[in-house]
Amino acid sequence: MGENNNMYPLYMERLIRLTHIEPFDHESYKELLSEICHTYRIAKGVTEFYQTPLMEQLGKGVSYCDFDDGTGTNILLRIRIVSPSKAIILGTVYTSYENDDYTNEEIVQIETMFRVILGFVSRRRLITLFDNYGFHDIDGYRNFRAFARFLDISNTENKLGGMIAFHIDLHNFTMVNQEIGRENGDIVIKRYYEAVEKAIGDSGIIIRLGGDKFVGVFERSVKRNVYNIFSGYLVQYDDVKERKIWVTAAAGIYMLPNPFMMKTYGDIMDKIMLAANTAKRQTSGSIVVYDDKMKKAKEHIKKIQTDFRDALKNEEFHVYYQPKVNMETKKLKGAEALCRWIKDNTIIPPNDFIPVLEINTDICDLDFYMLDHVCKDIRRWLDEGKEVVRVSVNFSRKHLIDVDMLPKIIDTIDRNNVPHEYIEIELTETTTDVLFSDLKRVVCGLQEQGVWTAVDDFGVGYSSLNLIRDIPWNVLKIDKSFVPKNIEDEESISNKMFKHVISLAHDIGLECVIEGVETLDQLAVLRKNNCNIVQGYFFDKPLPLQEFEQRLVQQVYDINY
Ligand code: C2E
Ligand code: MG
Ligand code: MG
Repeated sequence: MGENNNMYPLYMERLIRLTHIEPFDHESYKELLSEICHTYRIAKGVTEFYQTPLMEQLGKGVSYCDFDDGTGTNILLRIRIVSPSKAIILGTVYTSYENDDYTNEEIVQIETMFRVILGFVSRRRLITLFDNYGFHDIDGYRNFRAFARFLDISNTENKLGGMIAFHIDLHNFTMVNQEIGRENGDIVIKRYYEAVEKAIGDSGIIIRLGGDKFVGVFERSVKRNVYNIFSGYLVQYDDVKERKIWVTAAAGIYMLPNPFMMKTYGDIMDKIMLAANTAKRQTSGSIVVYDDKMKKAKEHIKKIQTDFRDALKNEEFHVYYQPKVNMETKKLKGAEALCRWIKDNTIIPPNDFIPVLEINTDICDLDFYMLDHVCKDIRRWLDEGKEVVRVSVNFSRKHLIDVDMLPKIIDTIDRNNVPHEYIEIELTETTTDVLFSDLKRVVCGLQEQGVWTAVDDFGVGYSSLNLIRDIPWNVLKIDKSFVPKNIEDEESISNKMFKHVISLAHDIGLECVIEGVETLDQLAVLRKNNCNIVQGYFFDKPLPLQEFEQRLVQQVYDINY
């Protein structure tokens, strides 16, 4: 048996074919292997792997049956390879009893062949191990490297165009962990991930960035199913007690154009992150698709943040003063300092830059700059013998966590030698308990020092009565949106609320200032409710320094109403 002149080239050719299955494909490997085994009448080939010789002694390893037609019992060959790191690879070839008449040459060929297979298989195993460690994080989730590899491969194959990339952030997960415990929280995250993974199927990939944040990409054909899970998915985290929780995500989506060529991962990552940031600000389960406006908004933010320091140094910020007027006497009562950024002869209004400066703590430097300039103006007016009115300065709630806020305010006023009663600090209400107690501490401190305090924008957002009950303010600044539009309809809720809030405020000794008053009709409502102090375009817009100084000189308005 085995007398075959073609055996030598055939055997070489198979060896070459075997080592050239690249990328590795299990089917072709098995097909080739069974062809080889049949030619050599091999019934079974088993490979065993042990990490150390001790593990081998203990029989603790992994074994694979690479080929098995079920009849093999007779060991033809056993090969033991010890790797430089002392890992052990053991290979055994079985034949059936009937066919054991091999020539020496055949045995040599089988042995050579089998050594190659062992080397080949262990290399595959190494790659799988590498795959597991390199492309998964410690919790077994696919990691960013897996995403990068997927993108690279799809990009070279020109398959990314038209796909949908996403970044998701599970909603309120800190709270979920608190409610059901961290271990259950981990199960929820895993099962949610698996649900998305299943919905995506072979059409893409999902990986974990860390915590409860995931990114991925999928084909449009599965969009509906995937979006459904993003919007809300019921996850069972306790199979015994059948406990479930509803999980929603904030999803940022980027619809990749078609065709699409990725140059860097940033081409996709930047966009899904930007969209996700917007999604996070919306209600739960929101899916926000990226558009170029988001990029512009981000550039706007970046530009303001970079320009801010120089602008402050170059004194590009100017104080505008908006008068507050007693509408009965028509006399100037006070003013609010409002910031204007004058850059290249154009005036940038605060709404364009203050929210940006509030992203970090830049706003705090601006507020102190404003306070300092106001103090300098007041000092000068006093020295010039002008009849000075109290000026209010806006302070962002970003200051509240700064324990030095209070001494810094007092220091700024004192440094400029200004009597404390000329300064009023406007603060807006806050919604968290922690900040509420900081707010209280700051307002009480200012009170003790004789500096006035005002609640700004009362009636907008979530004004609470605790705010005026628990904190000793001097002034309540009521937003124009709180002023009733239809004065005739006395029974309307807005008329009643306005009336009672004003009388309550007066009752507890608060001065009320109504902001944004533009019309005679509004004045009539105010008069009816005994609100005398008014700030608004009806009297004046915020004025540049010189114009305001004229008002200071003039003191009384010459308007008939
Ligand atoms: P705010 O403190 O509530 O200031 C009142 C705003 O209402 C001002 O807008 C003022 O120009 C506007 N206003 C006054 N009367 C009328 C009116 O009759 N009709 C209308 N439509 N609007 C009127 P401005 O100056 O654009 O400031 C907007 C906001 O920016 C301020 O609201 C304040 O929250 C913030 N801000 C301004 N300057 C500073 C600052 O130096 N520091 C801080 N932290 N915030 C500031
Ligand atoms: Mg204000
Ligand atoms: Mg206001």
